[in-house]
Formats: sequence, structure tokens, C-alpha cells
Amino acid sequence: MAQRFGRRRFLGAAAAGTLLDSSLPSAEIVGQREVRLEFLHPKELEEAKVACGTIFQPLGTIEWHGVHNILGLDAVKAHALCLHAARKGGGVVAPPLFGGVGGLSEPHTFIMDPEDDVFSKHLRPWLEQLCREMARDGFRAIIILTGHYGAAQQIVVRETAVRMSRALGIPVLGTPEYWLALDVGYTGDHAAWGETSLMMHLFPNTVDLARLGNPPYQGIGGRDPKESSAEDGRRITETIVSRLATLAQKMPTWNYETLDRFVDAEAALVARQLSTPRGKKQIWTAWRNVATAMRDYGKHLAEERFDEIKAAVAKL
Ligand SMILES: [Zn+2]
Repeated sequence: MAQRFGRRRFLGAAAAGTLLDSSLPSAEIVGQREVRLEFLHPKELEEAKVACGTIFQPLGTIEWHGVHNILGLDAVKAHALCLHAARKGGGVVAPPLFGGVGGLSEPHTFIMDPEDDVFSKHLRPWLEQLCREMARDGFRAIIILTGHYGAAQQIVVRETAVRMSRALGIPVLGTPEYWLALDVGYTGDHAAWGETSLMMHLFPNTVDLARLGNPPYQGIGGRDPKESSAEDGRRITETIVSRLATLAQKMPTWNYETLDRFVDAEAALVARQLSTPRGKKQIWTAWRNVATAMRDYGKHLAEERFDEIKAAVAKL
């Protein structure tokens, strides 16, 4: 313990003292490269960029996540996944952004853009400017990972990423984290089995299942959170982190031909999500078949099989 304490001191407050890292296993902290942008000195950032030119931008919000979870779940979850991925694959992680499109009509929920508003007036321009500044500072790939996923939030994030990829000439991926884990059974939920399991693995001290009481639970969507487990969370985390790490390594090296194939597939996905509800006013229409049609999205993305993503989009 003494030796570990000594090394942590050597690494300094940035590595030892934050809420986020205090919840990660100590082995994840000791000896690991600092990847949080806000804790880097210029020299460390420049070295990190030479090794891997990817920057992660985690997104979330402040939103009711049941009585058993913390209000900032979406952003702290996305941030932790990005930190793990950057440590594994390379790159740095920008501070998480708390604020997005929509949120439940429940207490303690901050709604910056209306729930189904794909014409986001706040998140979209903020993301655009972040991407422009990241590119101007020399990053060669951007991964925007949203842990908050109303339908419009998902569309705004992916659409902005597509447009910024084209405008800036570097790959920008904008996706909810669950799209990278559809093939291991996580199809996205709200404070239910999936999100709660992820938190039980990433931040075990923040989950208190004993507070749940009996169903119906307030403000929860998906499988019974009482079925959550840290083991399920670990399995989902490992799948997401491994794919993000692969993408962080590879995206800055893509040539324009690869970039174009990536953007074409992502643009097809956005177009499908926007056009499917036409006339029905049901923004979630394009998610009916996500679990089956897009099951291999994460795998195909990491393996740069963009034509297969594009073909799958047609089945949404
Ligand atoms: Zn959530």
C-alpha cells in the first residue's frame, strides 16, 4: 500500500484525487497515462497528439435516473467509457458536457433543447464549435460519445458528426455508447438493467438497488433494474471500450477514401432516422428494428466495414 501511495503521490493530484478516478480500480489509476484534457500540460498534450490524434467528447445531462442512480449518470458513464478507451487505444478525453436535447418529465432534470427537437438550438452549435476548435488545435479524429439518448439527441449528435466530418475533412463519429454493444444484448434503456449494470461496474458506490422498492418504478424505461449486475456492466463496458479503443487508434490514419465510405454510411443512417417517421410524428420509428438490423454496427464500425453498415441501414 505504501508503495502504491508513493506512486500516486508521484503522479500528482490529477491522477489520484478525483471522484471519477477514485471509483475506478486502483490498478487502472497507478501508472496509467493521464488522458483527461483538462489535467494536461501543453507538453503532455503535444506528446499524446503525436502518438494518437484522437480526442473523445463525452456527452450527457442532468436527468432523473430512478431513485437508485445519480442524476449525472449519462455524462459520467460516457466519460468513464472514454477514459478507459483512451488509456487502452490512445487519444485524450475532453471534459464531459452536461446538457443536451430532451429529458424525462421528472424532478431534477435539466432540459436544454425540447425532447423531440431535431432542430437543436443549443447542443448542435455547441458541438459544431467544439469540433472546429478540436480540428483547429490539430486533432485528426473526434469521437463524440453520448450517454444520454433520447431520439432527437441521437440524431443531432450523429448528424452534426457527419456534417463536421465533411466540413473539416477529418473523421468525426457521433454515437450513443449502446450502439457499440447491441450484439452483446444492450439495446439502450433508461436507468434500467443496462445503464444500472454499467454504473455498478464503473461506479459501484453510486448505485443503491435497495432504494428501488416495488414496481412500477418512477422514471425508468427498460428491463427491471433489479436484474442489474456489475458482471453484466463489465461485459458491456469491455465491448464498448475495445471498439472505441480500436477506432481511436485507426481513425486518425484513415485516408480520404476510407473517410468517405465512413461518412456515407453514417449519413445514410441519419437520413433514415430522420425520414422514417415521415407523416407519423413518431420520432422513434427508426428505432423499431435497431436491435436486429444494426446488431453488428459496433463490430462493423471497428472493422471499417462501412458498406455493411450502409446495407443494414436500409432495414431500419
Ligand atoms: Zn441515461
